[in-house]
Amino acid sequence: MHSQLAPGVTQIATSKRDNAFLVDGDDGLTLVDVGWSKAPGVLLHTVAALGHKPSDIRRVVLTHAHPDHVQGAAELRRHTDAHILIHDADRAWLEAGRVPTQGRSGAVGRFIDHLPKLHWTPTTADGTFTDGDTVEGSDGLRVIHTPGHSPGHIVLMHEPSRTILMGDAAFNRGKFAIGPAALSADPDLRPGSLARIPQNLNAVGFAHGAPLTGSEVHTFQEFLQQFRTES
Ligand SMILES: [Zn+2]
Ligand SMILES: [Zn+2]
Repeated sequence: MHSQLAPGVTQIATSKRDNAFLVDGDDGLTLVDVGWSKAPGVLLHTVAALGHKPSDIRRVVLTHAHPDHVQGAAELRRHTDAHILIHDADRAWLEAGRVPTQGRSGAVGRFIDHLPKLHWTPTTADGTFTDGDTVEGSDGLRVIHTPGHSPGHIVLMHEPSRTILMGDAAFNRGKFAIGPAALSADPDLRPGSLARIPQNLNAVGFAHGAPLTGSEVHTFQEFLQQFRTES
């Protein structure tokens, strides 16, 4: 299932719980996150339904190296030749094929990372980001480094439509949340990261949860406000 979130930004449900995003740019398509191992089939089917070829996906931007965002990356690369890009601080995880033991702050997180089904094919990054970069060819997709959930977590701001793609920096589960601390690398960094999200947004996309447009965006900005005053 897919829907247009904003001009140039399409949300694609890669499973019942997970979303990826397709951004139309001056050099083809940029895919934001891949999903689990079965997601590439869904993504390629959707890209075809939208009238594109697999090779139109020129690059894949990963919000962070957790299995539900990167597991399908190696398979997608085989079909598209897309460049795979990630923040410098999550690169080693992507290339190792799993979250390392020190990658989660709590025992529950460390336990799940031992399960083979949460591992992925080690995947080489073609390039890395730092805070403030604009993704080349994306027509204005800006990288905002939001460490905490993982060291190299990024949120992406689509400047032309003022749409923010939140990755796992926040979740929309009926109410907004920052997720369990035990599954985060450094939970204490999360409030300061959320305080860095720009205001005056027009739309919000979540990796997990329904997107926001119109007046709903305002309630999310109010949620973010608490982190601005804390930090
Ligand atoms: Zn995550
Ligand atoms: Zn996730």
